[in-house]
Amino acid sequence: MIGAGHTGLAASRCLTGRGIDHVVLERGEVANSWKRERWDSLRLLTPNWQSRLPGYRYEGPHPDSFMTMPEVIEFISGYAAAIAAPVRPHTTVTSVRTADDGFDVVSDNGDFRARTVVLATGACNVPSIPALQQAVPAPVMCVSPFEYRHPGQLPPGGVLVVGASATGVQLAHEIQQSGRPVTLAVGEHVRLPRTYRGRDVLWWMEKSGVWNQRYDEIDDLTRARRLPSPQLVGTPERITLDLNTLAAAGVTLVGRLAAIRNGRALFSGGLRNLFALADLKMDRLLDTFDAWAATEPRLNGDIAPPERFEPTRVPATSRIDLDLASGEIRSVIWATGFRPDYSWLDVPVLDRKGQLRHDGGVVEAPGLYAIGLPVLRRRKSTFIHGAGDDAREIVEHLAGYLGATSCRR
Ligand SMILES: Cc1cc2nc3c(=O)[nH]c(=O)nc-3n(C[C@H](O)[C@H](O)[C@H](O)COP(=O)(O)OP(=O)(O)OC[C@H]3O[C@@H](n4cnc5c(N)ncnc54)[C@H](O)[C@@H]3O)c2cc1C
Repeated sequence: MIGAGHTGLAASRCLTGRGIDHVVLERGEVANSWKRERWDSLRLLTPNWQSRLPGYRYEGPHPDSFMTMPEVIEFISGYAAAIAAPVRPHTTVTSVRTADDGFDVVSDNGDFRARTVVLATGACNVPSIPALQQAVPAPVMCVSPFEYRHPGQLPPGGVLVVGASATGVQLAHEIQQSGRPVTLAVGEHVRLPRTYRGRDVLWWMEKSGVWNQRYDEIDDLTRARRLPSPQLVGTPERITLDLNTLAAAGVTLVGRLAAIRNGRALFSGGLRNLFALADLKMDRLLDTFDAWAATEPRLNGDIAPPERFEPTRVPATSRIDLDLASGEIRSVIWATGFRPDYSWLDVPVLDRKGQLRHDGGVVEAPGLYAIGLPVLRRRKSTFIHGAGDDAREIVEHLAGYLGATSCRR
């Protein structure tokens, strides 16, 4: 197993359950990504009651709250201890290649021969920053979400946040509240209310079965795997952090950042269409929730009547360009997504775009598996509560593979 985040640990628990000898190699410590790669104010956007892993769950007094980073680290570290995961920390894997009877795994802390390898190295190893970052004029500070910790590290003055998914809307809100005027470049996005009919929207996602939809039942799997994260934040006040909230807080909304020419950022027009599409998709999802609720009479009295939300307000005028050299913008935050890093994987299983070729986590090279990638086996695959079902199925396949290849030996 490579990686001691929650997915690697969930898979480790399933391997132990089947008596399969293994080791979990981790370049840092358990929950390394949450320790090193997140900003100070971040809380999970999934409620505590949804923090559950095979044989382990949140049992504290605040099931409807959202964990802070220290709490997430404690939760995942507690899991590693509870399942006695055989983690070898401070062991960076620098190469995995096929060998006669499995794989040679090279690390900076010893080499290993394994019949099977599970890649649990995460889907968000590197910020995915467009090449046009190179065209940002020098005095403007460029910051990725991995480098960002708090607004105080940014120079005073305007901030351009590029990307309006979970990371972008959360950072835009926090930075605007720090007194720095924020311009938010908005592309395709997923709008969600924090609560719907009196329940957390993620309760609806789970109970209605939407999040459980399997990868082999999804029409356009490639698109589903590329969907941006929903505009959600976990706060004690349970606020909805959509574009209307941001505009009311003073954030200036502009279209997708299309190019930077001669120091000028150029934004796509068509905010109206972009907003209408996100509103439409949200309403369709709410329709799905309502349709499910109608089939569950036992919920009567437990949930409020259906509701619909104000459409995203289109600004009266929106800027289509911004002179980055004028001093109006002093920093740019690239909230443009993340991608995995497989630079150390010496097995030819990546496609032209550097994505792993796999069928529900069963990688093209026999004996090689992956877990924790978007919509790996279900829509919930990258979330904490999504790891359990995927881990059980991946490990079941792996056990079958070990059994079949042992017979042939
Ligand atoms: C900003 C952000 C917010 C998120 N918020 C939520 C949320 O609210 N709720 C939720 O359920 N999910 C959330 N997620 C999604 C998801 O939970 C995380 O991406 C999670 O970290 C994925 O778990 P993982 O175990 O697959 O990967 P990771 O936690 O990234 O673990 C991978 C591990 O592999 C190690 N590793 C990588 N390469 C190597 C190597 N070559 N050798 C050895 N070790 C290696 C890393 O150090 C790391 O510890 C969020 C993700 C991000 C980026």
